[in-house]
Amino acid sequence: MKTKVDPDECIACGVCTDSCPSVYTMEDDYAVAIEGEVSGEDEECVRQAMSDCPVEAISIDE
Ligand code: SF4
Repeated sequence: MKTKVDPDECIACGVCTDSCPSVYTMEDDYAVAIEGEVSGEDEECVRQAMSDCPVEAISIDE
């Protein structure tokens, strides 16, 4: 799986960087996801982060 954050939608709330810090990190005013493949238990927190993101800025490519 791969995941992305849309920087135009992200409001830098910190939900994804708190719940899934191995995948999402905060830049100045938006979160960014790691470029490579997400696997193992990180997949679960990516799904959770996508579900919890208040502005639906997170996408997943299976
Ligand atoms: S949960 Fe959504 S809005 Fe919040 S920092 Fe992550 S991508 Fe941005």
